[in-house]
Amino acid sequence: MVMPIADFYRRRITVARVYGIPVRIDYRWFVVFAMSAWLIATNLGHGGMWVGQVQLPPVDSATAWILGTITTLGLFMSVFGHELSHALMGRAEGIEIEEILLHPFGGLARLRNEPHSPGAEFRIAVAGPAASFLFAVFSYVAMLLAMMGRYPVAAGVFFLIGSGNLLLAIFNLFPGYPLDGGRVLRAILWRKSGNITHATRMAGICGILIAGMIILFGVYIMIAPNWRPSRPYFMGVWSILVGLFLLDTATKVVRSAQSAKLVTVGDVMSPPVTIAPELAVSTLIDEVLPLHRQTSFPVALNQQLQGILALEDLKSLPREVWRTTHARDVMRPIGPRFFVEPSTTLDRARELMKRNGVGSLAVINSNGELVGFLLGGKLRRRERSPASTVPS
Ligand SMILES: [Zn+2]
Repeated sequence: MVMPIADFYRRRITVARVYGIPVRIDYRWFVVFAMSAWLIATNLGHGGMWVGQVQLPPVDSATAWILGTITTLGLFMSVFGHELSHALMGRAEGIEIEEILLHPFGGLARLRNEPHSPGAEFRIAVAGPAASFLFAVFSYVAMLLAMMGRYPVAAGVFFLIGSGNLLLAIFNLFPGYPLDGGRVLRAILWRKSGNITHATRMAGICGILIAGMIILFGVYIMIAPNWRPSRPYFMGVWSILVGLFLLDTATKVVRSAQSAKLVTVGDVMSPPVTIAPELAVSTLIDEVLPLHRQTSFPVALNQQLQGILALEDLKSLPREVWRTTHARDVMRPIGPRFFVEPSTTLDRARELMKRNGVGSLAVINSNGELVGFLLGGKLRRRERSPASTVPS
């Protein structure tokens, strides 16, 4: 199989497709995999790890490496299971999933667009940690069974996988974007204020604070005089790297929320492709649609908006009556949910488009003239913000 060139330059490879979702791995992830296998192998090799009341005996180095690799694979599958849980919940909420990405600091289920409601956002966010909690419970049960069967080393492996999952679930519930807890926070703020941009910005700011705390924690581990965990430098550097990664993502999210706030409809609208109220549906389909592939059109006469015609509404219209039906017969008559002024923020316009049933908006100036048109689908494609991702 030839590796796709585009994938190569993005430094990630597609390793599988699960439920049709591409699963990709960042190259740097392999370094982390090797490091994790090595760390676990050395620990098991030396023995002495406590699992409950039992102290693990040392194992020979080949066994240690095999166990290290198996445990790391188990942890890898756990992160993947966490992301898959987000992805499947996203799909259940009607969102297309672009990919699941495993990167050095965990995983990411990339959604093609934003959840349509705070409730959907909440369910997608908690699906990941819920899966991790479940995996932790399974692993601990397996650990107990292994102990009862007197396989202490197997119990040790299940203990590590269970603890990894527990850590993944708890860490991800920290209330700062881009962590899952930050998405929960965003859903709550979004429900309260009705404004997704404001909610994103606040959750992002909490994310920056949490990232800062993780970085400070990493520094503290390395210099603390009277508290030395095993491998303090390794853990410290790791914390700092994770913190920097979160800081970078959270900062980008806050920035993009800020700019979305300032962009107005006037900045992004297109000139309207209007159709006359008297236009026959057959003419629209035969002559207008081939030139302008859009899912809805403003219906106007002398720059006065009369309504919006959504192609979706034509589906139920029998072909025989296309010639005798006019735009005004099938359009949705003008109403406040179908138009905005050029000064309206893009953020507000997006909210309106999501809920008005046609996915587009007419733009009307202060003299009541139709001056522009916004198509939701087009906007989404143009700016896919980092806000539409679910990091682990
Ligand atoms: Zn997650």
